[in-house]
Amino acid sequence: MQFIKKLVTQPADWDYWFTTTTNRRTYDYASDYSDLHHLRAAKHFLINEQNGCCAYCGQGISLDGSSIEHVVPKELNVSLSTDYQNLVAVCKKPVKDPETGKDHCDKEKGSRVITPFIFFADSDVTDKKGNTYFKSKSDGSIEANTNTTLSNWYQAQAFIEVLNLNHSLLRQNRAKDMLAGLLSAYIACPKGQKGIFWKVQFEHILKNKKIPYRQFLLNYIAGKIGVN
Ligand SMILES: [Zn+2]
Repeated sequence: MQFIKKLVTQPADWDYWFTTTTNRRTYDYASDYSDLHHLRAAKHFLINEQNGCCAYCGQGISLDGSSIEHVVPKELNVSLSTDYQNLVAVCKKPVKDPETGKDHCDKEKGSRVITPFIFFADSDVTDKKGNTYFKSKSDGSIEANTNTTLSNWYQAQAFIEVLNLNHSLLRQNRAKDMLAGLLSAYIACPKGQKGIFWKVQFEHILKNKKIPYRQFLLNYIAGKIGVN
């Protein structure tokens, strides 16, 4: 998951980006795609807003390797299908999990509804506190945090399952990034500084918003240094 701080009002050109060549605002743009010449500008905006990472799994995404996702499915509420507050950029065409044959992110979600844990009015504060809904494990998997209310636990668990965020390749990538990067840095860290290693890493990742799987790493370190 990725924390996204949405603007209070939509970007100045937002309506223009969803207007067809005949100057008609379209809601069901999936069937009108070829008529919309500025959809890429909207996607570009969303990718920058998310610091270059998929809204759901947190992997790095590019303009061509991503798509626009409706958090509330357009099948359920067509007027939200071009609403800035409802749209995010996500990874495109995930490889099926070799273990389960399942996809992840929007391909797995389809038209199901999730609790939008990705939107936080003040993501900087939420980042710093650590995410109280999810826990990161050293094998790269994500768990709903048991140290919360039953209702929060249930929603966080559903979020992980509907988006299949423990897809084996995601799990491997997160573990690889974490173990290869952080643990080798820990080993290389001079003996006298090992005590503050995780705190320094936490601050480093906090400042560098474009690190893929950043929230997973922050949650992992937060567990080690007792932030949450
Ligand atoms: Zn994704």
